[in-house]
Amino acid sequence: MKLVRFRAHGRTASGIVSGDQIAELDGDHFGPLDRLKAGCALSDVKLLAPCTPSKIIAVGLNYRDHAYELGMPVPDDPILFLKPQTSIIGPGDLIRYPAMSSRVDYEAELGIVIRERAFRVPRGDARKFVLGYTCSNDVTARDLQKKDGQWTRAKSFDTFCPVGPWIETDLDPDDILVESFLNNERMQSSRTSQLIFGIDHLVSFISHVMTLEPGDLIITGTPAGIGPMKPGDEIEVRIEGIGSLKNTVSAG
Ligand code: MG
Repeated sequence: MKLVRFRAHGRTASGIVSGDQIAELDGDHFGPLDRLKAGCALSDVKLLAPCTPSKIIAVGLNYRDHAYELGMPVPDDPILFLKPQTSIIGPGDLIRYPAMSSRVDYEAELGIVIRERAFRVPRGDARKFVLGYTCSNDVTARDLQKKDGQWTRAKSFDTFCPVGPWIETDLDPDDILVESFLNNERMQSSRTSQLIFGIDHLVSFISHVMTLEPGDLIITGTPAGIGPMKPGDEIEVRIEGIGSLKNTVSAG
């Protein structure tokens, strides 16, 4: 199933995509998924970010090739950081280039959306707590990341977390292609089988640090091939079995 949030006729709703149609849910993604209201055409709505997390937990250096390109050692445990909810934008929304930075990078990442409260979950049970998977872009002010020494400012500007276009619930995420395209040129291409810490490990590990709530988003790290964007560029994150997330960069 492809779960979406959308805006139509001035109101926000949740639904399930089927072909070029959306069946509207009577409620959100966390209630029964069989209570459906009237449908509408996908082309008649504005898709929103498919989740509204209480927190976005990001994982740094989770592909060996990306750690190597940054000259960083492969970590013993997942390197966690947070992005604020205010960084989230949906498909087609603009990434605003901040005046404080002169190097803003894309990072294509698989996103995990949590279904139910998860507290100290064993690895073997991790999938029970996952609603599904989405495309995400961990936009980063690379110059500020280096300058500050820690990553909060570099990762947290408004619009720095594009997510979407939907949450795919029927997907085995352990060996799928993760790619980015800058102005239609492929920049990143790897598979989730190359993750240092896989899906089950991450959900379990993070749930031993902080309670995960329904809708929380884990972004799982980016492969090699990161690079800068400039105003006017279009950046696309494409993930096998999920779909395509496109955003354009705008000046300030
Ligand atoms: Mg990242």
